[in-house]
Amino acid sequence: MRRRLIDASPLSPEEARTAWREGHGDHPLDRYLKTGRIPHIWCPGCGIGIAFTAFVKALEKSGASVDKTVVVSGIGCSGRAAGYLNLDTYHTTHGRAIPFATGLKLARPELNVVVFSGDGDLFAIGGNHTIHAARRNVDMTVICVNNFNYGMTGGQGGPTTPVGARTTTTPYGCAEHPFNLIHMAGAAGAVYVARWTVLHTHEMRDSFDEAMKKHGFSFVEVISPCPTGYVRRNKLGTPLDLMKYYRDNSYLSDTLDPDETALSFNSRIAVGKFVDRERPTFMDMYNEWIVSRAGESEEKGQT
Ligand code: SF4
Repeated sequence: MRRRLIDASPLSPEEARTAWREGHGDHPLDRYLKTGRIPHIWCPGCGIGIAFTAFVKALEKSGASVDKTVVVSGIGCSGRAAGYLNLDTYHTTHGRAIPFATGLKLARPELNVVVFSGDGDLFAIGGNHTIHAARRNVDMTVICVNNFNYGMTGGQGGPTTPVGARTTTTPYGCAEHPFNLIHMAGAAGAVYVARWTVLHTHEMRDSFDEAMKKHGFSFVEVISPCPTGYVRRNKLGTPLDLMKYYRDNSYLSDTLDPDETALSFNSRIAVGKFVDRERPTFMDMYNEWIVSRAGESEEKGQT
């Protein structure tokens, strides 16, 4: 019996790709992917791949030049997304995706700069960078996949773990208040703030597209299951159960104040676009206050 199971082992990744192409031809999104790196590392039932696909579809929909789009990620399961994209991408150190992306945008303002990372990377280790990039209104798009724990490192509690939720570091239930990412991003100064679950594939795609076209710091939170960590420890069922949960418990409410969008353990999930406004970006301010005034001073012979 064991012998037969070994004989029936699945195709190698290369054989699987060849078989797919022979049967179906190239996938229309292949040109955005480093197909040689697939299969990806994400667990079965993980939502990151859905958010990743929505992002690739947003790239296609937006017509953004692949030569002018750069994706930066930090550390964690979501941070692995950068490695699968056939663009210029950077997989940076923990929490440092946003300062890296900021430097990139300042040096090459014509680039479409996107950060794709997770809740722990962006709001714990990199929390300070996130709020200050929003305050400065640096022109970039930040996509944050929020699965309420540190999936890659073993399912520890993080800055979005709800009160009472079990993780490897909160076995009796989390005793800390979580961040509401929507409220934080909006209060810090983001000009575009939205939230979707991985069930909202079309809305996510359209929101990523809109966020990339926005002039300024745009932020999209994606609520996603981590079946290996958070979902299993909290006995929330199968990945399909989570999708049904998102279907039955998310509600569209663009008119809610960001302060009213907080999530708690197994709460209903407000989705939609909560902030859409205009503010001068960091480069606008820099050009107005530094470049033009320094030029005037030089003309007057001042230092
Ligand atoms: Fe996804 Fe969790 Fe697996 Fe990471 S550990 S790939 S977040 S399911």
